[in-house]
Amino acid sequence: MPNGAMMATNGTIDKPREACGVVGIWGKEASVKVAPLCYLGLYALQHRGQESAGMVTFDGKQLWLSKGAGLVPEVFDLDSLAELPGFAGIGHVRLATQAEKHVINTQPLLVRSSYGSLAIAQNGSIVNGKELRQELLDRGTVLQTDTDSEVILNLIAQSGEADLPSAVAKILSRVRGAYALVVLGEGMLLAARDPWGNRPLCLGRLEEGYVVASESCAIANLGGELLREVQPGELLILDHAGYHTHSLDPGKKQALCAFEHVYFARPDSSIGGRNAYLVRKAIGRELAQEALVTADVVIGAPDSGMSPALGFAEAAKLPFEIGVIKNRYVGRTFLQPTPAGRKLAVRIKLNPVIEVLKGKSVAMIDDSIVRGTTSGKLIALLKEAGAREVHMYVASPPYRFPCLYGIEPSSHTELVARGRTVEELKTLIGADSLHYVSVEGLVRAIGIPKEQLCLACFTGDYPIGAPGASIDRLSDQRRE
Ligand code: SF4
Repeated sequence: MPNGAMMATNGTIDKPREACGVVGIWGKEASVKVAPLCYLGLYALQHRGQESAGMVTFDGKQLWLSKGAGLVPEVFDLDSLAELPGFAGIGHVRLATQAEKHVINTQPLLVRSSYGSLAIAQNGSIVNGKELRQELLDRGTVLQTDTDSEVILNLIAQSGEADLPSAVAKILSRVRGAYALVVLGEGMLLAARDPWGNRPLCLGRLEEGYVVASESCAIANLGGELLREVQPGELLILDHAGYHTHSLDPGKKQALCAFEHVYFARPDSSIGGRNAYLVRKAIGRELAQEALVTADVVIGAPDSGMSPALGFAEAAKLPFEIGVIKNRYVGRTFLQPTPAGRKLAVRIKLNPVIEVLKGKSVAMIDDSIVRGTTSGKLIALLKEAGAREVHMYVASPPYRFPCLYGIEPSSHTELVARGRTVEELKTLIGADSLHYVSVEGLVRAIGIPKEQLCLACFTGDYPIGAPGASIDRLSDQRRE
């Protein structure tokens, strides 16, 4: 471990973390069994959240809830799926922030209201969530969870509108933030994407009906056809008549999360009309063109560095090799409190291929550096295995500003690049050289105009604004 490099205390891989994934399915006939379909959709979205999973189904008379802590196959088995009746349903996978870890915060949330039973599942974060929560508390509303979803659900229930679509549209016009959400009522399923289009959400057709999901890989997993992305600021209503659309607020400047293409989305998903794997290869090519490449061999940091490494090797005309093997059978909660234990944990999780590395100058590509912990450990591992030099290439610009829109880490104190030069970072992680792709290179590779992307964690320009309390703090950071 290089001198001064920070070590994660929980043994987890050091990466930005997506907070949630959602799915919603409306079966075209009452005979459709929706629970197994929701299960398959959630399984495909597992990478977006691993701490809890849940679904709510509708059988034409009532809504049924099943959820719990753990991975999708840990929460649902064949018996629990068989017990959930219904032809329509919504589902959720979740990765909680520190403040939200309590099991009561697992989604979907289900309540009774003047619109009948209502369930909600959401991905994202509401910038004015605190104010809206206070408004509810001030009028005596009892809240049970720390989630924005409960706030939205209560505001919908109290909206006073004549019908559910009008109630959802009215409340979402007051919500400022990044979200993809699904609401299931007695007779319809509503799906909405924030007016900036920051969180992804797409629409597909199945043999059994219609589906909305955070990523197109879920639609593919269900054997469906991707119809299109839900538009920024669009409210979709799925019911027995098929689907119809309602525009909430199409006037906002778009701000798709650039990190979806860098890391979050599954490589087989398309977001903003661009396939994530191909974008990652293109970022690797940009990186090789921007930086001076001196290496004998190119490797990817497992697993998310592999796609950009392929593009990098192609552009640099260097051999691509597998230099580190990741053990896939190490549990998610492999906690190691002592330095010796943590070193052992790394050795169990990652193993170098000595024959590829020995005596070589190695170019290692990773998607991002967040806390710097994994990069430092990997470089030390490569050198122990005999690598002569390790040159680190990063397929995203320095991550210096916290995400305020639902991605962890949401605190600037966890970002190793904040307040450090690239030279200082290079020394910290023990690399022989360190190169980041530029913001312009990243934008070129994504292939979406810069004005239509959120790049706030690299630039500090927050397109959806910031919660009031954070604005001063953010200004301070940008001055540093
Ligand atoms: S700040 Fe970064 S991680 Fe957060 S939405 Fe914007 S691009 Fe995505």
